[in-house]
Amino acid sequence: MAVADTVSRRRFGHEAMLLGQIGIETAPCPGDCGFCVFGESHTQIPKNTLSMEEILARAEAFTRRGDLYALFLMTMHDFTNERLLEIIQAVRKCIPPETQIVVNIGDFDIAQGQQLRSAGVHGAYHVCRLREGTDTSLSPEDRKKTFRTIRDAGLDFYYCCEPIGPEHTPEELVEQIFLGVGYGCFQHAAMRRVFVSGMPLSDRGQITELRLAQIVAVVTLATLGCQETQNIAVHEPNLLGLTAGANVVYTETGANPRDTEVDTSSNRGLDMPAARKMLYEAGFTALRLGNGRKIALDLPYLVESAVDDVGRDGV
Ligand code: SF4
Repeated sequence: MAVADTVSRRRFGHEAMLLGQIGIETAPCPGDCGFCVFGESHTQIPKNTLSMEEILARAEAFTRRGDLYALFLMTMHDFTNERLLEIIQAVRKCIPPETQIVVNIGDFDIAQGQQLRSAGVHGAYHVCRLREGTDTSLSPEDRKKTFRTIRDAGLDFYYCCEPIGPEHTPEELVEQIFLGVGYGCFQHAAMRRVFVSGMPLSDRGQITELRLAQIVAVVTLATLGCQETQNIAVHEPNLLGLTAGANVVYTETGANPRDTEVDTSSNRGLDMPAARKMLYEAGFTALRLGNGRKIALDLPYLVESAVDDVGRDGV
């Protein structure tokens, strides 16, 4: 972990990245992942879709300081292409040019990939999860086909070793880690499966943040030979991961597969001031923006940005 931390800080120049995700809808999902609160065979979450006004208000809140590297838009496995494109175009107009848009959606083909690119999308988060096809109803081959599509469409490929539970063997983790490396991921990461009561996999338990940080370190070292990898994330955000090689955290609002609240910002989702503070406490000295520019992450910035966010939200 100490070696990964040192080489990562050297590799990324002590820069961190802030990412934000809006879960734009909830519905019983045919992916039926045994760890996800939206799986259609066990979900208790009501169907809900954020209106365009709500999405734009959340996008504005995430980007008002102009220090968000990328805004993620997340759907269920099935999504309506036309509505997604409409949302992307509207969001693109409302957020600063230095913030990129990334999608976290179901499998898609090259025609859709090119449409996304033309609409202003820079990247896509996609994973062939641990035990995909066994603990989920999705096909590992379809997931990998979408990796290729993402690369062929010219999008940045955001990947992750997830969702890690105590039952996963080192061999399974290594195989999944190198799958992302093999497809030239722009971002690699590690995420633990979060214990949510009543899920089909709940009785398998949850790994500690310390074990997660050790896997973050392995991911960090495993990507050293991958030219495309430009950052390492840890999900959910925590300081141990940020001192074991990770330099990225996500803030979240709306739907969240790891949360039983319809709007995760009132529960598990970290907000922007808390995320900035965590990166600062982990010793990062700059935030990288989506246009390559940097902002110094120091105490005056932390205070000024927190006052601005809190003041405007009236909290
Ligand atoms: S993790 Fe994604 S694909 Fe799986 S059930 Fe949840 S929303 Fe659907």
